[in-house]
Amino acid sequence: MKISYSPYTLKPTQNLATISNMSERKGVLLKIEWLDGLTGYSDLHPWSELGDQTWEQQLADMRTGQISQMLEQSIWMARRDAQARQQNKSLFDGLPTVKNNYLITDVRVEKPDILNYLKKEGFETIKIKLGRDLQKEAEFVSGLGLDGAFKLRLDFNALGTWQTYERFMKNLNKVALTRVQYVEDPFPFDEQLWLEAKKFAPLAIDNEFQKVDLNKLKTKPFDVVILKPAKMDVSSTLQACVMHDLKITVTSYMDHPVGVMHALAVACELKKGNPQRVLDAGCLTMPLFQMDSYSAMVVQAGPYLKRADARGVGFSLLFLREPWNQLKTR
Ligand code: MG
Repeated sequence: MKISYSPYTLKPTQNLATISNMSERKGVLLKIEWLDGLTGYSDLHPWSELGDQTWEQQLADMRTGQISQMLEQSIWMARRDAQARQQNKSLFDGLPTVKNNYLITDVRVEKPDILNYLKKEGFETIKIKLGRDLQKEAEFVSGLGLDGAFKLRLDFNALGTWQTYERFMKNLNKVALTRVQYVEDPFPFDEQLWLEAKKFAPLAIDNEFQKVDLNKLKTKPFDVVILKPAKMDVSSTLQACVMHDLKITVTSYMDHPVGVMHALAVACELKKGNPQRVLDAGCLTMPLFQMDSYSAMVVQAGPYLKRADARGVGFSLLFLREPWNQLKTR
């Protein structure tokens, strides 16, 4: 297996301060060539704020035979891309389309009539990242005037405590509360406290999933698993979700458009085999960054993303133009 990489920089369009204070996001595109002649492409986009090793470290470890979970996922996605390319097919061929949630990262910059716009565009789910100003955010959510056409996802990123969570949920008006599809990582995982927290709304587990051993769980402290193909094994997570009767939301990793389209392709594939279990995806993260030649190739139509071109994950011409560096392995 021959691995080549090409570093890139994504420039945020708005302050992603609840997660990170950085001005730029760095990662690498990967080109992987197998001995059987197949070539495929994927993304590697670590978030050190979330505990990921830098891409430099992950590639250095790879040279000595240690493969990180993230890199393993990148190689797996590149292989999917390679197989589709070889058959002259798109990763999306024969799969259902999957809607995405609309993402609000900062309620202060949203217009009050946002709901009319979202309805016209065909969105059904809205995800709101919380934690800048919980009082204002509760007012925003209550003031949305949500009707039965919308489902709400609230994400605390495990930043709060049981007390801040409880106060926030009690501040929501009844209408908004009934529209909550789930609350993501309300506070750091604790089986008993999460069970109690479910009295307000169903819960979803995202980054806190690392702390959970599903085989040891006796209860059901959450209802939904956020599956990020960028760093989680897809088939074993699916299996665990089937066994514990959990729903799945597939999301991108606020990564490069190549990573985003790979995640969406996984969402479509899981949706085909598990239509009831797989919910609207969360792959509309490209607008968080300034447009580049890759994101310019992806067309957003309301809650849908249209593939960049018809082979593999797309972007074929751009991949040809990347200045690839070959990783020296021993
Ligand atoms: Mg989350």
